[in-house]
Amino acid sequence: MTGKVWFVGAGPGDPELLTLKGQRLLASAGAVLFAGSLVNQAATLFAPAGCEIRDSKDMTLEEMTAWLLDQAARHACVVRLQTGDPGLYGALVEMTRPLTAAGIDWAVVPGVSSAFASAAAAGETLTLPEVTQTVILTRMAGRTPMPPGEDLEALAAHGATLCIFLSITLLHEVQRALRAAGWAEDSPILVVQKASWPGEEKIVRGTLADIKRRCQAEKIASQAMIIASPTLGAADWPTLARSRLYDPGFSHRFRKATAPAPETPA
Ligand code: SAH
Repeated sequence: MTGKVWFVGAGPGDPELLTLKGQRLLASAGAVLFAGSLVNQAATLFAPAGCEIRDSKDMTLEEMTAWLLDQAARHACVVRLQTGDPGLYGALVEMTRPLTAAGIDWAVVPGVSSAFASAAAAGETLTLPEVTQTVILTRMAGRTPMPPGEDLEALAAHGATLCIFLSITLLHEVQRALRAAGWAEDSPILVVQKASWPGEEKIVRGTLADIKRRCQAEKIASQAMIIASPTLGAADWPTLARSRLYDPGFSHRFRKATAPAPETPA
């Protein structure tokens, strides 16, 4: 028998943020390989009794691939559970290519990224009309270097929302890059650690000037998302440009305008 390997996004931590499809696949899995350091083990709650469950935190990529190949020879459904969405910093193609080479069928089930869970935890929006309509998902260079043109200073120059992964220990570098790109000292910055993890989530709000000190005070040194965005705090702004979609003067496919059209196009 040859089974199929499913790369399933486990979501950011709260088991309820797993997709229904992910839950269904876990419930029928003969074997599950999960990313122990990041995926809340609770996600494996959904695996059936007798399912082979393995934490990948001490395995090399070669060992993981070998394990998946071995399990696919024995079970119809094998799940590789990955934190957030498998397409972001998840070594997805490194794992799928050997499966393809071995003739093993595989597919990906998306997940809720920690970028979205972090914004949600703080009640923030990542886009806002006439403020920014763009979100950049990025990281600081670590052992993985940044390709040319993608250093944070260059990306920050857009003034768009930045969701910065894998970089909480490099917060001073983030500050330096934002300053060099012209962000003001009072620009709001949000850091969320373990977004959505039941009982463990920490939300730190600060500015470019003080975010590092605030994170140190909260002892945040891992598993945290940094969001720098001109939209942060908009819930408390005295004035706000309205979203055209819900403007009474704006018609669209599902609703006729009940007021004159807005002056600028949507
Ligand atoms: N594929 C994942 C990202 C994996 S990279 C996703 O889509 O979310 C690991 C990084 O993701 C961490 O360094 C941290 O920046 C972020 N991260 C993962 N889970 C998180 C969580 N629950 N809260 C905040 N940040 C998280």
